[in-house]
Amino acid sequence: MAEIIKITDRISYIKATEKPLSADVGIVEGDEFMWIFDIGADESVPMSLNKIQKPKNAVISHFHPDHMGNLEHAELENIYLGGNTFKYAKCGTVVEDDVFFDDGEKIHIFPLPSSHAKGSLGMEIGDYAFLGDATYSTMKQGRVCYNASVLKEEIAVLKKLSAKFFLISHDEKFIRQKEEIIGELEEIYNKRNPKESFIWI
Ligand SMILES: [Zn+2]
Repeated sequence: MAEIIKITDRISYIKATEKPLSADVGIVEGDEFMWIFDIGADESVPMSLNKIQKPKNAVISHFHPDHMGNLEHAELENIYLGGNTFKYAKCGTVVEDDVFFDDGEKIHIFPLPSSHAKGSLGMEIGDYAFLGDATYSTMKQGRVCYNASVLKEEIAVLKKLSAKFFLISHDEKFIRQKEEIIGELEEIYNKRNPKESFIWI
């Protein structure tokens, strides 16, 4: 059984694992639904989630298997994902603009421009925003990089969030300060060569 770690009365998570590679899974308790952010790939995750009595909605951050591998194994009412993720999942509702649900707490689902994966989504509840892998780089020609214009858009979206904490998948600390993450991304953006589309790390 996967351990569920509490952050606040309503927010908890299951920690990412490396073997098998499985992302952090966010669990938010609304009045009507449990809101699951990423479903992971470790088989212990759906076993733990399926024990929760409340109906569950899932938000999938992006298409990588460690974030959505368990989709078939979890009992879900609704699945929200980006257009690119839909191509892989072949199910669920595509989110292309900010969406708000009032479920005791305000649940805010938003598209997040990302070099790591096209069609990424984030989910914000009060002081916390789940970002999946969206702040990470990508690989091009065997080298680690960010797309400069996408990074600029991503920083703008992140700055507008009211959450004080960003929940970053696979990060050992998982709960990070908003300002710290934006500072790191701005430092990368400032390294860009204006003549190039990519920032090589
Ligand atoms: Zn990923």
